[in-house]
Amino acid sequence: MQKPDAISGCGDLPVLRERGQREVFCGLTGIVWLHRKIQDAFFLIVGSRTCAHLMQSAAGVMIFAEPRFATAIIEERDLAGLADAHDELDRIVAQLLDRRPDIKLLFLVGSCPSEVIKLDLSRAASRLSRTYSPSVRILNYSGSGIETTFTQGEDACLAALVPSLPASPQGCPASLLVVGALPEVVEDQFSRIFDDLGIDVRFFPPRHAAELPPVGPNTRMLLAQPFLAETARLIEDRGATLLVAPFPFGVDGTTAWLQVAATAFGVDPLAFRRATEPGRERARRALQRYRCQLWGKKIFFFPDSQLEIPLARFLSRELSMELVEVGTPYLHRQHLKAELALLPAGTLISEGQDVDRQLDRCRAAKPDIVVCGLGLANPLEAEGMTTKWSIELVFSPIHGYDQAGDLAELFVRPLSRRARLVA
Ligand code: SF4
Repeated sequence: MQKPDAISGCGDLPVLRERGQREVFCGLTGIVWLHRKIQDAFFLIVGSRTCAHLMQSAAGVMIFAEPRFATAIIEERDLAGLADAHDELDRIVAQLLDRRPDIKLLFLVGSCPSEVIKLDLSRAASRLSRTYSPSVRILNYSGSGIETTFTQGEDACLAALVPSLPASPQGCPASLLVVGALPEVVEDQFSRIFDDLGIDVRFFPPRHAAELPPVGPNTRMLLAQPFLAETARLIEDRGATLLVAPFPFGVDGTTAWLQVAATAFGVDPLAFRRATEPGRERARRALQRYRCQLWGKKIFFFPDSQLEIPLARFLSRELSMELVEVGTPYLHRQHLKAELALLPAGTLISEGQDVDRQLDRCRAAKPDIVVCGLGLANPLEAEGMTTKWSIELVFSPIHGYDQAGDLAELFVRPLSRRARLVA
């Protein structure tokens, strides 16, 4: 029998900690959704041809759009001297900003090739900022596969932006800051609900670089994504108070998330009911269609996006799926406190990864559906398992009442496809 690295409890939940070989995307992948969100930002990856290929395949769908990311390829020829590499970077940035005056925020994104690691990108960002400020703000963060898994790319990007947030004026009333990139359609839906609740809300990241929300002791922060540990820490350091809540997936998660904000702002319970009941009803009806297809189906999550725990809670509580194992790359106990309390007693959570051991557990459990990264999906499909790519869950609008049915459907689709194949 395999010996796990460590098993400890989280409340009454066993947590299996593993440290071994991992199969996850790097943080560069976050650019695929971040470049659509901040419309006047540009992401300049300082990397190798591998990084350029990854981005091209991950963002292939964007081929006809005006690109808001590119790769400055730092090759061996640059190793002759770091000064040359810095000169090369300055030249590329000058060319880019000359051609694209619409860019107001430029991120230099580090990667893991050794020649890039040697470059001090924070020094490059401050040097270039001095040249292009105030019309362009230039920041840097790392999307390197050594330091980040794919959703941590968003955390690193937003964390780099936090020091630029203006201080909120003293003495002004409390306001809500929703933190985490959300598709515009979802952000608009939440804005309307917060409006109905009478809560003054701002979103971070904003749609434009000039719309950075103020932050300070009168800020109440609600996380929209469970993978923003560093960003949340830095915003708390600016004086904001974190509101711990389940994440807004499904009817229960969305209602609980909104309720935590409503309670913090003293919203009348009747007003809360009035503002949320239509959405709840729409979501309940949408989920009804998928319940019998997912009822009792066994699901196994490999660690990838850090969305695994909130999604597992949604699938078990609202669609009666059976959780075999819920893997997460990192378990942030404070941010996930409300989620962990809602998981069925005895759910096995695994943190980190030893991919071979986990594959053995998965094969032995014979789940009906496996949620995993692209690298594992093909081999598992070839073994006859049904898989769902976790990256699709990050790219798709899945938050809030009006996306609850679409979220359930994302799990129904691979099961229906498999059923058609074996029929
Ligand atoms: Fe690969 Fe590293 Fe580039 Fe990511 S950052 S694509 S892991 S070389």
